[in-house]
Amino acid sequence: MSSLPRIIRFKVEFKTLNMLQVGRGFSEAYSSVDNPQLTYRYIMDSGTVIRVPVIPASTLKGVLRVIATRIAPYLYPGQRICATIQLEDYEEGECCNPAKGSVCPVCRVFGTRDLPGKISVSDAIPKDPVKLSRMIEECIYTHIRLSRYTQTVVRGALWTKQYIPLYTPFEFKLEYRLCGDPGTEDKDLTLVIRSLRMLPYERLGRAGLVQLTKVEVTPSLNALPCNKLPNAVSEIEKLLGEVRSRE
Ligand SMILES: [Zn+2]
Repeated sequence: MSSLPRIIRFKVEFKTLNMLQVGRGFSEAYSSVDNPQLTYRYIMDSGTVIRVPVIPASTLKGVLRVIATRIAPYLYPGQRICATIQLEDYEEGECCNPAKGSVCPVCRVFGTRDLPGKISVSDAIPKDPVKLSRMIEECIYTHIRLSRYTQTVVRGALWTKQYIPLYTPFEFKLEYRLCGDPGTEDKDLTLVIRSLRMLPYERLGRAGLVQLTKVEVTPSLNALPCNKLPNAVSEIEKLLGEVRSRE
């Protein structure tokens, strides 16, 4: 009667605990000027288009993957786990290549070349985009770079950086697709949830720390088949408990 759901969806809310800066590259105006920008999306608010900073899905998924790589050896003892997904690793055969055979648990869940993986992550969007789009204009800091030799400001090395302010609430969605046997799904889903539980201990972007403030799971915890996914369901229970205890 309690069959495996096809997809489990998580809606995750968090707030920033310091001035968050998720860069998206470098200014090309001056090679000596380091000017990482925030990533923006355009949204419609009561008929007006506003520009709001977001935390890109690729940043969130990347951080979760880094965490997963560290905890996977404990969940899958004896199995090979690849550490990175750099192009040169494929060429040297150090990273999973689905065309050549088996895929490690982290690549199976997070994806690798020619393999989409089991999870999808959305951008993290601010809960109050209008307020943030106004506040962000005041979150500009001017930086200079001092010369190591003369201790004076390097010519042209004066630039501004913009930050997402403290305690800004965001939300993102994470979907997990169940497509294998229950034993594998139980472990793989556990890997994802445990990585999510570790997210507050990892840095997003340059120095950003976040605190999870609310997690909603669909189907609800009671509707999940604990006989088929015992470890994953208990991991979800822990995640929800941790978030509730911080309210
Ligand atoms: Zn791999």
